[in-house]
Amino acid sequence: MHDVKRCACGTRLSNRNMSGRCHPCGLAHHNRLPETKAKRVSAMKRVWQRPEYRQNHSAKLKAHCAQPEVLEQRRQHAKKIGLQSMGVEAMRDPALIAKRSLRGTLTKMAWCPPHLIEDARELRKAGYRLAEIKEIIAEREEAEKREVRVRMGLSNG
Ligand SMILES: [Zn+2]
Repeated sequence: MHDVKRCACGTRLSNRNMSGRCHPCGLAHHNRLPETKAKRVSAMKRVWQRPEYRQNHSAKLKAHCAQPEVLEQRRQHAKKIGLQSMGVEAMRDPALIAKRSLRGTLTKMAWCPPHLIEDARELRKAGYRLAEIKEIIAEREEAEKREVRVRMGLSNG
């Protein structure tokens, strides 16, 4: 029995082994095959076409991104890669960050005053429709203006 079968990596193979590869090498070989890669890509595309998968995925992603530690991590990372030097100072504007994260949730945010975007997002989370959110935000803005007028009126005597 000097004719011991061995894998290219040196692992001894059983006599019944037909591939000439040990298990890990066989897997690695399989993973490297172009047809395996192609199959994976097409499976991924198929699964991505299911709306519930996409929704689930984006919901998970959103929840993940909403975590304070993830935000902090991203902030650190952004610092590291030098966002500032890349001239993307505006990206750090909280109003814009809120606006960006709302994209796709609320179709257009141009109607919403920047400082009320967070409110709009809360309303959206609570399940309000866009039309309702617009109304509520408009009301809030009105109330704020009224409040400012009242305050000014008071301070003016
Ligand atoms: Zn091997």
